Amino acid sequence: MLVSATDMLNAAVEGHYGIAAFNTNNLEWTRSILTAAEELQSPVIIQCTRGAANWQQGFKVVKDVVEDLVDYMNITVPVAVHLDHGTYEDCFEAIEAGFTSIMYDGSHEATFEINKERTAELVKLAHSKGISVEAEVGGIGGVEDGVASNGELADPKECKAIADLGVDFLACGIGNIHGLYPADWAGLSMDRLAEIKAEVGDLPLVLHGGTGIPTAMVQEAISNGVAKINVNTDLQVAMAKATRAFIESGKDLEGKNYDPRKLLKPGYDAIVDRAKELIRDFGSDGKGWA
Ligand SMILES: [Zn+2]
Repeated sequence: MLVSATDMLNAAVEGHYGIAAFNTNNLEWTRSILTAAEELQSPVIIQCTRGAANWQQGFKVVKDVVEDLVDYMNITVPVAVHLDHGTYEDCFEAIEAGFTSIMYDGSHEATFEINKERTAELVKLAHSKGISVEAEVGGIGGVEDGVASNGELADPKECKAIADLGVDFLACGIGNIHGLYPADWAGLSMDRLAEIKAEVGDLPLVLHGGTGIPTAMVQEAISNGVAKINVNTDLQVAMAKATRAFIESGKDLEGKNYDPRKLLKPGYDAIVDRAKELIRDFGSDGKGWA
C-alpha cells in the first residue's frame, strides 16, 4: 500500500531514527529497494527527480511500477512515492500521476517570497489529496539534475517561515552536499541544525546528499531532528562497482551471461545489500509498523 510520508516521518522523529529516501532509476532498482525494506521491515520512501522520471518515461510510469511491485511482491511495510527536487510545474504533474509525496524545491526561485507563496499553494493542493509536502530553504551544495547551488547553512528564521506554511517536512542546508563529498569537506554543522530545530520544533528535517557522510555524523544528525535521509549516489556507486567487478572477472563472457538478467544481477543484488546497510545505520529496521 502506498502512503504519504507524513506519518512515517513523524514516527521517526518521535522514535529518534531516520528513514531512507532512495532514488530509483528503473523497475529493477525499485524492486531492489523494496526487497531491502521488506526484509528489514522498514518503512521506505522511493523517490525520483524529473530527470529520472523522464528516463523512465514519466512520473506515472514511476508511480505505477512502485505500486504494482508493492502489490506483486506482497510488500507489507509503508511505502511512499516521492518527487525529489520538483519545480512548481513538476509538482502538479507528480500529483496528477498519483505520487503520494512531493518536494517543491523553491530554493531556486527569484525571491524567498515566491518560494513561500508557491509552497503555500502546493501545501493546500497536496493536503486536499492526502499527499505530503517537503519544502526547501536555502540551497544544497553540489549539482542535482544539472541545477547547481552554492552550499549554505539555511537561515533558521526562513526555516520557521516555511514551516509555518504547514509543510510536512523540511530540507535545510546544514553543510551537506549532493553527490560525492570533497576530501576537504567541513562536515555537517550540528550547531546550525540545533538552531533550526529550535525554530521548527518537531517538524521532521531532511538531510539531502546522504552519500559519503560518516555514519556517526548522520546518526548524530538523526538524534538532533533529521528524519529523512536522501540517498542517491551511494546506490549508484554500489551498483556500478558490482557490475564492474562482474565484467572485470570475465564472467560476462561465460555461458549466457550476456543476458541482462544475469549481466546486471550482481549490480541489483548490491543495491539490496547496500540499502539494507543504510536502513540499519539509520535505525528504521523493524519500524515498519511504528
Ligand atoms: Zn537533494
